[in-house]
Amino acid sequence: MGNKKFVYMFTETDQTMRNLVGGKGANLGQMTKLGLPIPQGFTVTTEACTFYYENNKKLSDDIVNQVEKSMAELEKITGKKFGDPTNPLLVSVRSGARASMPGMMDTILNLGLNDEVVAGLEKITGNPKFARDSYRRFIQMYSDVVMGVSKSKFEEIIDEMKEEKNVASDMDFTAEDFTEMIEKFKKYYYKQVKKDFPVDPKEQLFGAINAVFNSWDNPRANYYRKMNNIPYEWGTAVNVQSMVYGNMGNDSGTGVSFTRNPATGENEIFGEYLINAQGEDVVAGTRTPSPFSKLKEEMPKIYEEFKTLSKKLETHFKDMQDIEFTIEKGKLYLLQTRNGKRTAEAALRIAVEMVNEGLIDKKRAIMLVQPEQLDALLHPQFDEKELKKTPHIGEGLPASPGAASGQVVFNVEQAIKMTNDGKRVVLVRLETSPEDIEGMHVSEGFLTARGGMTSHAAVVARGMGKCCVSGVTSLSINEEKGFFTLGGKTVHQGDYISLDGTTGKIYADKIPTVPARISGNFETFMKWCDDVRILQVRANADTPKDAIQAREFGAEGIGLCRTEHMFFDSERINVVRQFILADTPIQRKKALDKLLPVQRKDFEELFEAMGDFPVTIRYLDPPLHEFLPSGYDIAEVAKELGVSAERVRAKITELHEFNPMMGHRGCRLSVSYPELAEMQTRAVLEAYINVKKRNPEYKAHPEIMIPLIGDEVELKYVKDLVVKTANEVIKEHNTEVEYTVGTMIEIPRAAIRADHIAKEADFFSFGTNDLTQMTFGFSRDDAGSFLNNYYDKRIYTNDPFARLDQNGVGVLVKMACEKGRATKPNLKLGVCGEHGGEPSSVEFFHKVGLDYVSCSPFRVPIARLAAAQAVVKENQE
Ligand code: PEP
Ligand code: MG
Repeated sequence: MGNKKFVYMFTETDQTMRNLVGGKGANLGQMTKLGLPIPQGFTVTTEACTFYYENNKKLSDDIVNQVEKSMAELEKITGKKFGDPTNPLLVSVRSGARASMPGMMDTILNLGLNDEVVAGLEKITGNPKFARDSYRRFIQMYSDVVMGVSKSKFEEIIDEMKEEKNVASDMDFTAEDFTEMIEKFKKYYYKQVKKDFPVDPKEQLFGAINAVFNSWDNPRANYYRKMNNIPYEWGTAVNVQSMVYGNMGNDSGTGVSFTRNPATGENEIFGEYLINAQGEDVVAGTRTPSPFSKLKEEMPKIYEEFKTLSKKLETHFKDMQDIEFTIEKGKLYLLQTRNGKRTAEAALRIAVEMVNEGLIDKKRAIMLVQPEQLDALLHPQFDEKELKKTPHIGEGLPASPGAASGQVVFNVEQAIKMTNDGKRVVLVRLETSPEDIEGMHVSEGFLTARGGMTSHAAVVARGMGKCCVSGVTSLSINEEKGFFTLGGKTVHQGDYISLDGTTGKIYADKIPTVPARISGNFETFMKWCDDVRILQVRANADTPKDAIQAREFGAEGIGLCRTEHMFFDSERINVVRQFILADTPIQRKKALDKLLPVQRKDFEELFEAMGDFPVTIRYLDPPLHEFLPSGYDIAEVAKELGVSAERVRAKITELHEFNPMMGHRGCRLSVSYPELAEMQTRAVLEAYINVKKRNPEYKAHPEIMIPLIGDEVELKYVKDLVVKTANEVIKEHNTEVEYTVGTMIEIPRAAIRADHIAKEADFFSFGTNDLTQMTFGFSRDDAGSFLNNYYDKRIYTNDPFARLDQNGVGVLVKMACEKGRATKPNLKLGVCGEHGGEPSSVEFFHKVGLDYVSCSPFRVPIARLAAAQAVVKENQE
């Protein structure tokens, strides 16, 4: 470790060093290179964070030395001295991971203050009120972040003093008031920590660096990472930056600003600021800030300067920027810039417009939209007619668009509890804070009394694709008693409300929704993705309705039609039961003869709904007991079927299996009851012939897929049944039908034997749901009950049923592709497990050379974008 560099000055870094110095550090370095007005500082690397954790959460001597050296360097750059009352250097200490995690980790401002330094600062600035305000803020933050002393008590002290002194806002306190507050804070600190507040700036500095590293592991950061698939191993960097002050009077201020509107994508600077305030006042939502446009009147020169710098940053980073700035005595400083979080609608508009403006090319545009984000766009909106009929009870800032209807909850615990009970909830808060992240995640939307468009609630909502209405000043919440009042109406916990995140209106009612309207930008953008991607995207659909929806979302075929879903139809299930209860092949055939016409009709409708796109029909898969009744239904079903309840019970007992998912299902059913595969084959072929008769131009060919194969002889057995029946049908109709017979690869043994299985198969489709289940050896239905323990203990970071386990299951997939194609170079390969619509898995499927992915209709656009991104990334590598 001896010579490793753990600390870099901003002058030594640039945007290419993101992994080492984090996003904030890399951008601060880059901005320094661009000659922008950045308060200087240094970054302690993400490697130092990893090392800190390996070293039992202790900073090594080497890191301590490097920090001290960099502090001396910073003193030189600024011409100030850390801890020197006559010319003090004060710093902020902030986290900065590789991926931005807004508000999830800790920040400390004004570090380096103590009784002497604050006295010095008063003298130099001639502004005692500012100096003491900064000091009390520092004590508050340091106590909370570094020493874990709850900040609510400090807030209480402030509120008490406000009442006592008859003061409305923090900035109305006098310098003397702040002195009194500082004393009260220190006393409280002593009571909690049993030590005096630390006066040594060095001790403060290292305490703060430790605290930021520790915050990488706090519950909200862990939760955020899991939600956003950010690896724990990455660690965070720490940025130590010299302070500039927005709270030095009315010629000072601070703000947050986006280069384009993050809610709509409109190309206008969008932000807000507060005069005479520090950064946390804007994001915390405790004071409602002014819109950026107002700065034009209040500080016209700064307004123009900021506009120029903002354009420069956007042009340089080729993405919409989220910029923090501070004005200190009429001089503008930029504190940080990062790619801004935005709604899906905004993301599309920004990507399309930036291409049209000539700022970026289409490939870059494809990378500017997160695939998962598209989900929000495809979700329902309020039914306009119903909306017009319902009067609204209040209005706030339209902080994040969308429609949310749900039952009111006032805190995270309630939100989690009610959603666990299957309810939809809307979280109503005075303001949200990063601790609320889990409750926000499960809620449909958020309503807050305080906070502007860049408040925590607004930023998080846009990131999550959820609806948010913030800054509803007339909203009065009584959390204790469980109600709020707004517009003369009292709404209790559990009552329904609806939020319109596009207009900011609030309704005391449940309003029905309609499917989303897809805008022109969506079409344009998706076309760019389609031009680039190599993977085809199909949908898993069992009904004509789903098929039509899938085509609307751009599916190029059906990759999985689960025929059992057709068997569950209430009118048919009794015929299926007759089949199951039959004792002889003749009885079974009789039941299947009844199923044949309905199944054939289903297929005809499906083929027609898909036009010339291919349809893959998977033969019956689940164990038969799933079709039999249970409990009270037994007698009723027996009556309908004209058999005794005893008989039904006996059959249920006979079919009982200890491990049904590993039991009598999939192709095993066709081995036991060949007439099943024969009926399904007849239905597929006859449906095709009928469709072709009606439309001689019909171009697609049926694809028959046999599930749960583990052996080539097994596949050959079922395939022979298919071919024999198909030949009969073809002969009967005196026609020709081109069809293929393929198999699912969903048992590990099938992957291992893929070279042999390929001899019998026209195509493979990976059933990664079962393949994951059987590779891990845990049930896809039951694993949820214990996987949380695995996440908590960091044994797994992701749900392998949602994101493909590339190191295990993925190895089997890759091997099967190679083996299959070694036997048959043109073997068609696809995937139809849930992973087919998950972006990181789609990228993997692209890399291993699949021909297509198939996923649920709503995820088709996500898969199309992910497939395009996979190509762009590959070309970048
Ligand atoms: C699979 O196992 O991945 C699959 C698609 O089949 P099912 O989910 O129907 O078992
Ligand atoms: Mg399966």
